[in-house]
Amino acid sequence: MVSRIIPVDTFDLVIFGGTGDLARRKILPGLFRRYRSGQMPEAARIIGVARSDMAADDFRQQIGQALEEFVEEGKRSANDIAGFLAHLDYVRVDAKGTDGWGELKGKLRDEAVRAFYFSVAPGLFGDIARGLHKHGLAHDETRIVVEKPFGHDLESAKELNAGLAKYFDEHQVYRIDHYLGKETVQNLMAVRFGNILFEPLWNAQFIDHVQITVAETVGVGGRGSYYDKSGAMRDMIQNHLMQLLCLIAMEPPSKFDPDAVRDEKLKVIRALEPVAKNDVVRGQYVGNDAVADYIDDVENPDSATESFIALKLHLANWRWAGTPFYVRTGKRLRARMSEIVIRFKETPHSIFGADSGSKANELAIRLQPNEGMDLRVTIKEPGPGGMRLVDVPLDMTFAEALGPEASEVPDAYERLIMDVIRGNQTLFMRGDEVEAAWAWADPVIAAWEDNNDKPRAYDAGSSGPEDSLALLHRDGRRWREIKV
Ligand code: NAP
Repeated sequence: MVSRIIPVDTFDLVIFGGTGDLARRKILPGLFRRYRSGQMPEAARIIGVARSDMAADDFRQQIGQALEEFVEEGKRSANDIAGFLAHLDYVRVDAKGTDGWGELKGKLRDEAVRAFYFSVAPGLFGDIARGLHKHGLAHDETRIVVEKPFGHDLESAKELNAGLAKYFDEHQVYRIDHYLGKETVQNLMAVRFGNILFEPLWNAQFIDHVQITVAETVGVGGRGSYYDKSGAMRDMIQNHLMQLLCLIAMEPPSKFDPDAVRDEKLKVIRALEPVAKNDVVRGQYVGNDAVADYIDDVENPDSATESFIALKLHLANWRWAGTPFYVRTGKRLRARMSEIVIRFKETPHSIFGADSGSKANELAIRLQPNEGMDLRVTIKEPGPGGMRLVDVPLDMTFAEALGPEASEVPDAYERLIMDVIRGNQTLFMRGDEVEAAWAWADPVIAAWEDNNDKPRAYDAGSSGPEDSLALLHRDGRRWREIKV
């Protein structure tokens, strides 16, 4: 499929669920930032859709409040907010009903790029797709954007895909994974494929292991009932961490083109080996004076759902045979931190002696907080006293080298929504990728469900269950510390 990248003169973006949490916290603030940087076309229109009966002015007022709340002070003026709100409109539609579709259709312009963002529960995806088709709102170039969770298992993911495929071609479907919208994730691809330095070393011969950590300090918050049916494996590993793993492990695509990239990612997922029982550690947080236990947060005393998971993964292919990928994610951990660490092997022989201080090289890619990348290299410790070695970070963060403007990077949602408008699917998951990821995850989940496996307790504010540390210790390795 040839990617359709068209100039963005104007667009109609319809947000189903325009009054919901995601729209208020991420989607509309992202679009606001775009507006503020002068990059939103004058004729762009954003139409919120939900069941609530309200006038467009009330919607604008609600969103104005959301911008005050979710856009940093100093990055929003009353003038900017008023200017942005002038692009907004609202139509009342019940996705399951028949009212409102005609009014919505009347607001859409033939000459504009047309995108529908499904920011609603996945149970409504099929209804909206059908409604758009039945009421004549979709044409061949219409794009639809769908949010996670994309399925609960392989079967439900297939159903969702089939529900969308009835009315939309794959080139029209944008499955969002906001981790892929992060500047550093794209920088990872630039570093890997834009330099001769890394790719020759990017394999099991030179890389000892890879670590991916996504640590959160929050608990399940108000999402307890959803989360308890899902858990860290479904909520984080199957999608976000899997996508990161794919970008690290994939073969170089022949070009930076949506299907070339996604073909390579798909091959990685398919190369994942089944996970051995001893290579999974699941945990559940235990609160303290300040925060509740997981089981109280989800109001289910018998819950066996994991709020933490660590896995040791292997890829069965020539590039990676013998190099483990350790991945972990959890809630109520010591710090909010997401990073990827590529640990290279030590030099085969140290000419400086075993106690010279030489360390293995390490490339750390920090997704949050403070997005950035550094490569630790060994140099001579300056000064007299013989050949003592020290490892120092080579900072590959763009802000330093490229000036302060470079630190004003678009936020993930802003970038991804604009990619939808431009018709660029490179950073979106294809249907077969999502299904392959579920096909891998389902048996791992089934194994612990069949065994009535109970997650290990871990203290809120810790690094997760002790056993997750042992997962590396027994291989003579250790996790990088969870810290900001
Ligand atoms: P939410 O706060 O519950 O909002 C749901 C929105 O959908 C509301 O605007 C609601 O308005 C509208 N809606 C519900 N039923 C509808 C119907 N039949 N027809 C038309 N509109 C309807 O949910 P959310 O947190 O924004 O999440 C939206 C989606 O994004 C979910 O799939 C969620 O899993 C996913 N997601 C959310 C987050 C997040 O941080 N919130 C993060 C990742 C993914 P009315 O009640 O007025 O209809």
